[in-house]
Amino acid sequence: VTFADLGVMKQLCESCAKMGYKAPTEIQREAIPWALEGKFQRRSRRRDIIGLAQTGSGKTAAFAIPILQALWEKPSGLFACVLAPTRELAYQISETFESLGSSIGVRCAVIVGGMDMMTQAITLSKKPHILICTPGRLQDHLENTKGFSLRTLKYLIMDEADRLLDLDFGPKIEQILKVIPRDRNTYLFSATMTTKVAKLQRASLQNPVKVEV
Ligand code: AMP
Repeated sequence: VTFADLGVMKQLCESCAKMGYKAPTEIQREAIPWALEGKFQRRSRRRDIIGLAQTGSGKTAAFAIPILQALWEKPSGLFACVLAPTRELAYQISETFESLGSSIGVRCAVIVGGMDMMTQAITLSKKPHILICTPGRLQDHLENTKGFSLRTLKYLIMDEADRLLDLDFGPKIEQILKVIPRDRNTYLFSATMTTKVAKLQRASLQNPVKVEV
């Protein structure tokens, strides 16, 4: 099976080749066709995803590829927001988006704690397509940065949800869920299925398919 077989467009297949991805990994084979099929469906026909996969499985590209393809087909302001538990992970995710999306001119911004709010506010005003955030800092900007909102968001991704919840980001995530469009795709990735993850799944995903590797 090739990336093209999964419905991935030419530019992104070429990026994968450049990055040394010879063939899709299992989580990519399972998640990408589903994600591509659901991308511009009406709300009732959207297909959210719960992915149970460890780091190292290729999970980042499994969500980045379909999002970049959707962005290419129909760009519209701030397009996707990825919530990650740690700064390190946020930067890694951003690198994957940038490498895969360089040929389509994607603009990413990492918004994490410990960095200057003002500098981040300027970054946000430059209209990135993809935000990769830790939940606390995103919430700070939603409350304090004039002109910033998630109104146009088409995708919300919660990565390493078990760790997000272990770090007590649950209440921040709930706040964020309240201010993003109901009409969106939501992907939740976690290494383990815990009671807390199941609860977050119920609160955020609609009619999800489960992909498990
Ligand atoms: P992740 O599970 O997203 O943290 O990815 C783990 C590592 O696998 C990263 O270094 C990716 O660049 C790499 N990777 C992702 N997809 C593939 C693929 N299809 N073939 C080879 N390596 C990959």
